[in-house]
Amino acid sequence: MSAPKQYLSIPELDIFPWLVHGFGLAGFDLEDLPKEPGLSRFRAVLMKQLHSARVFWLDRFPESRLAGDGLVTASAGLLLVIKTADCLPVFLVDPENRAVAAIHCGWRSTWQKILVSAFELMRENFGSRPENLLATLGPCIEQKCYEVGPEVLENFKAAGFDTAKIFAPSNNKDKFYLDLKKANRLLLAGEIGLRPENIYEMPACTLCSKDLYSYRRDRQTERRLINFIGIKETD
Ligand SMILES: [Zn+2]
Repeated sequence: MSAPKQYLSIPELDIFPWLVHGFGLAGFDLEDLPKEPGLSRFRAVLMKQLHSARVFWLDRFPESRLAGDGLVTASAGLLLVIKTADCLPVFLVDPENRAVAAIHCGWRSTWQKILVSAFELMRENFGSRPENLLATLGPCIEQKCYEVGPEVLENFKAAGFDTAKIFAPSNNKDKFYLDLKKANRLLLAGEIGLRPENIYEMPACTLCSKDLYSYRRDRQTERRLINFIGIKETD
């Protein structure tokens, strides 16, 4: 019997021999990262996640604990980690410059356009060009399961989003269903300028799948899915 699957990956990123990535399933914990054959030499970089638009560029392992929601690097041996339970984890990959980013996209970071902040750091530091970038949207709570209050819609509206494209009405008064993936797709393809065919999605809902953790379903659980991306060290 083979071991149960620990994390999901996508073929479009698996083709790069210099890259590792995964969207963790329930039961895959931080302690399991170094036990994975391809990950034993990496050092995991974690943040105190704030639901902000703060992104850090790293050229070495950070000396102190970072507080923010995005990490960008072109340095080998760093494993960028995003913890989620309903929020959307996003990876950006620049194959031309061998640079990567990992971003924690909850609704607050999304309306604050954290993906735009991450891309700007990649452009400044590595000369990344949007037409060459690949983006992967991991599992998150999907629109039909994600009812939110009017304050959420107001924030997106104030930030200039086309709210008709990302919110659906609810039968409950003053409630809406938010499409977190769509909102971030609008940033990637619209504001940043990625090619739509270079944006990939994992078709899974954290609330509907027992293989994933959901903050809403699991009564505000402390458990988190471990999502990671990094550049391998060459021998
Ligand atoms: Zn669902």
